Amino acid sequence: MKLAELGSEPIPSGLDLSEEVLIGTDLCGELPRLASEHAGPKPLWLADPRTWGAFCAADPHRDSGRPEAGPELHLLCEDPHADTERVGQACAIVEGGGFSGIIAVGAGTVNDIAKMASTLSGVPYLVFATAASMNGYASGIAAILVDGLKTTLEARPPRAIVLDSAVLAAAPPQLAAAGLGDLLSKPVSSADWWLGNRLEGSGFDALPGLIVDEAVALAARHARGLPAGEAAAHEALARALVLSGVSMVVAGSSSPASGGEHLLSHLWDMEALISGRNLRLHGAQVGVATCLSAALYHLLIGLESPDFPKTPDWARTSERIRIAHGELADVVLPQAEKKFAGFAQRSSLLREEWPEIRAELATLGIPSADELRAILQAAKAPASLEELGIERDEAFDSLSRARDIRDRYTVLDLAFELGFFPAGIRQVLASSRV
Ligand SMILES: [Zn+2]
Repeated sequence: MKLAELGSEPIPSGLDLSEEVLIGTDLCGELPRLASEHAGPKPLWLADPRTWGAFCAADPHRDSGRPEAGPELHLLCEDPHADTERVGQACAIVEGGGFSGIIAVGAGTVNDIAKMASTLSGVPYLVFATAASMNGYASGIAAILVDGLKTTLEARPPRAIVLDSAVLAAAPPQLAAAGLGDLLSKPVSSADWWLGNRLEGSGFDALPGLIVDEAVALAARHARGLPAGEAAAHEALARALVLSGVSMVVAGSSSPASGGEHLLSHLWDMEALISGRNLRLHGAQVGVATCLSAALYHLLIGLESPDFPKTPDWARTSERIRIAHGELADVVLPQAEKKFAGFAQRSSLLREEWPEIRAELATLGIPSADELRAILQAAKAPASLEELGIERDEAFDSLSRARDIRDRYTVLDLAFELGFFPAGIRQVLASSRV
């Protein structure tokens, strides 16, 4: 089907969007046609051992025309990261082998590597999803690790996306649960986007939210069907994930789907990588972080007379960041410095207009942490810090410094600029009940 048929909200024309989205069952047989239409006569297949295994199990009769081995199949290592090194390797294979396009078989990591490599090599790609674990399939950005910093890079969306609900339902259940967790951030991410515009005039558009709202609500209503393997639940989730990616293309950035809750998740990833720990699922972290953001919003909306902090100076702030971020300080500091530059202007606006801003925030329809946790629990997704294996002290620490890692204004900054943080962090942890 065409993207326009996925939801009821019209999608603007003239954008670089995927041309075809297939959601349903028995879709492996569609790949030969899709490949010739969207990846040219000599495509490179890209997967990791696990995603390739899931795909081969779904395609026992080789309907997809997949290679068994050989130069047209590039298998990444087990549990690869989407980093500049792996993107570079994929580009070298595409360009060295004269490949006309890429067929990505996988989910978040494989899709990000294929998307970036396809963009840099100037060849198209299509993706066969092996899990409904994240909302990046249709987006125009790739999350790539650059020198240890999770960096959002512009990249061309796939020409076609295939989401086979039988394949998605056969994936480990925590993957779809993570996909739902990633989607649930939408109301708080959008509120952060709105807030950034209110305080910095950085731009906001309601349309991306409208494109995805209905589909996210439907996926949330089907939450219980995900662990049960219900096709309708997996199709509803797949549709919402694709539309969430589209909403980012329409916005021209990840803003409608990535705010302070994503900064928390990215910080946890960056620190896990530095200390050699395994990464948790992105959407699993985002789901719990969204409960924290939502609880924080409600506490701030209730704040009648903020105790505004004194204007900080950069020397002291950069010193704090050096100590707090250790090895990562060098990559974090430029981001934090850009955001710091706008402090005085934001602060004076907050001092003058907080009663109005607070009233406006209250109309944005931010769900409560309890509502969000109930949806996560229905999907059997992690709904507490404990289930993620995050100590409360670590969460306290993350809430105090996740804002530093990206020049994007979020509720985490607002909490400091209203003088609610750091003292209020314990209150957020308590009231979110994660
Ligand atoms: Zn995400």
